[in-house]
Order: sequence, then structure tokens, then C-alpha cells
Amino acid sequence: MSTGFLPYGRHAIGEDDIAAVAEVLRGDWLTTGPNVAAFEADFAAAVGARHALACNSGTAALHMAAHALRLGPDDAVVVPAITFLATANAAVYVGAEVVFADVDAETGAITPETVREAARRATRPVKAVFPVHLKGTVADPPAIAEAAEALGAVVVEDACHGLGTIYTANGTPARVGACAHATIATFSLHPVKTIAMGEGGVVTTNDPALAETMRRFRSHGMVHAPEAWALPDQGMEDGAPAPWYYEMQEPGFNYRAPDIACALARSQLGKLEGFVARRAALADRYDALLAPLAPHVLPPVRPEGCTPGWHLYAVRIDFAACGRRRGAVMRALRERGIGSQVHYVPVPWQPYWRNRQPVPALPGAEHYYARTLSLPLYPGMDDGDPTRVVTALAEVLGIG
Ligand SMILES: *Cc1c(COP(=O)(O)O)cnc(C)c1O
Repeated sequence: MSTGFLPYGRHAIGEDDIAAVAEVLRGDWLTTGPNVAAFEADFAAAVGARHALACNSGTAALHMAAHALRLGPDDAVVVPAITFLATANAAVYVGAEVVFADVDAETGAITPETVREAARRATRPVKAVFPVHLKGTVADPPAIAEAAEALGAVVVEDACHGLGTIYTANGTPARVGACAHATIATFSLHPVKTIAMGEGGVVTTNDPALAETMRRFRSHGMVHAPEAWALPDQGMEDGAPAPWYYEMQEPGFNYRAPDIACALARSQLGKLEGFVARRAALADRYDALLAPLAPHVLPPVRPEGCTPGWHLYAVRIDFAACGRRRGAVMRALRERGIGSQVHYVPVPWQPYWRNRQPVPALPGAEHYYARTLSLPLYPGMDDGDPTRVVTALAEVLGIG
């Protein structure tokens, strides 16, 4: 059991990761070099997608997806009420209407019913649904895909919590990111996520045209390949493509990932299975330790057929029944060297959204938000740390 501070999440960097980064710093390419392509190939293979594109944040990944799907002011996008700000912001960047879907009160995830209910509130046709694999558990991807399809919408998985998650659909195992039930999946490799890149993100898809659109958007909208030029005459010199020439057919951003970060991410990706196994073992340990604290404290829901990557270990606490306020519990845990966090404040409650649209009735999100608390979970925790956390939690809640 460790005695130091336990944050709710933490990266795990080894000497091999450091060596991989140092090697890049000694080499010729700090960005847009061989480590980007190598990482992308490894990531695509790891999740089982045809295309993976690295970028510089999970937010950039979401924006690339929203742009490639041509979401715009004539469209609505369904976003879970419980997620990180960036999921909805991606729709804002392209001018689309955001309709917040309520979530299941226990899992915190959208359901086919809440997607349909949100769609009824949309003032424009729903063109995309952005499910979030909250904590790393999926919420029936085939059913969400079916609900989206019935609306004439595509699915973009915000898989920022879902790296390493495997689920079974109709008897077939699928990895989050393989896009078995989505058109595009997006990942964040922020240090608090399953693997660390510093700042970084990835999009995956099986559609080569979407991959190409996202590739251009990632780098200013630049088109280098002569066969893709819109004005080939302008780019020709003496009947051959000019070596300096490039085109911009529509503007993009600079969302490129540096080689330095890709070398780190690639080294980390090699440890994904080990990280996920460690997280799963710690989650199992937590579940067992928390059993006596039911019903005041309940472990995260484990959806059937899902083997989560466990980005977060978020428990459900009946603070009222314990006679405790959540902030006081968090402060008391902190005094005992234990970090905790709330994932997330319902996004439609943000001032930006309250100023723009009426807040819909969200009984599931309200219930989930009132009770959720993320406890420390990361590969570097000691075997005894869950005991330390659960003992402290029972103490500050005055139960057990
Ligand atoms: C972390 C996260 C993001 C944003 O990723 P960044 O890399 O921080 O830009 C988006 N959505 C969800 C669900 C996340 O957890």
C-alpha cells in the first residue's frame, strides 16, 4: 500500500518510453516523420480499423470527424448530457445544432430511447449521434447504431474513454475503435486517459474517403498528390507536376501530431494490454471491497458482454442516505491523500448552453450526476491501494 497522494488518474511512463522519445529528439524528424506513420499503423492494428490518423488532441479528433461528415448548420447532432465539454463543442465548431440526450441513471450512457427522445427535440434533421463510452464501458453499440440509422444519422463514437474496451455484439467480439458500429471513432491520449501522448488524439475509420478528408483537414487542407489536384494545369511545369506545388480546396487546421508525441504514444500502445489488465484487476478488487458498502455505495455498472478498458472507476454514492455532502467527502478524502473527481457536470447546464437553448428534462443525467464519484484508478497503483481508498471512503461517509 502506498502512502503518497493517489490522484484519480495518472499516466505510467517507463524508461523505455523515455528512450523512445529521446531517440526522436536525436533524429531528423520532430514532426510529420516516420513515427507518425508507424504509430498510426500500430494503432489501426491494435483496434482493428483500416485507417487511424494521429492528431494533437481528442478535441481535434472530434472536429476532424465532424468536418469529414460534412456536419453543418442544417444538421443536428445528438450528444450525451453527461460527457466532457469537447463532445458538444465539436458540433459547435461546424455550426451544427446540439441536442442533448439524457443518459441512463445508473450507467451514465445514452440509450436508444434517449437518442430518439432527443431527436424529437431537434429543430433540424439529426445527421449524427456521438455516443460516449463513459468510464470505458460501452452501452449497446449495435442498438445505438440502429437507433441512429433509423433517424438517418451516422454514429461517431467519442471513444476517449474506450481505448482497450472489447464488447460482444451478436456473438462476435468487437474492439472499440474498429468502427463495427460507427462511421468514425475518436480517441484522446491525454495523460489521464488509458495511454499517454502528452497531448494527442486519434481518429479511426474504415472509410478511405473519410480518412483522406480528415488527413487534409488535419494539415491546413493541403493537397500534395497531383492526382487529387483541382487545378492540375496550374501545378504543371513542362508537362510534369511541379515539385513545390500544393493546393487548398477548402481550409483546414493544424491538428498534426509531432513525432515526439507519436513515439511516446507508440511505446505506450505496446503496453495497452498490460495497462488494461492492471486496471481490470484493480477494478475487480474495488468491486469486492465495496460490496459491504451497498446500497450506499455501488460499483460502476458492468454491461453484459463488455470487457472494459476502465478509463475511470466511478462509483455511485447515495450521499443523502449517508448524510454527507459530496464536496465535504472529496475534501475529507483529499486530507487522507486520496484524489477523486466528478465526471461530469451535465454539459447542457453550462452557461454557454443555458444561454442558447432551454435545458431539457434530464432525470437520468441528474440522478447520475448527483451520485457519481471517480476514485483513483491507474496502472501504477499498488495492490493495497484500493483497500486504502475504500477504507477511507467508508470512514468519511460514516458507513461500513
Ligand atoms: C478527454 C476527452 C475529450 C477531449 O480530449 P482532449 O485530448 O483533452 O482534447 C473528449 N471527450 C471525452 C469523453 C474525453 O474524456
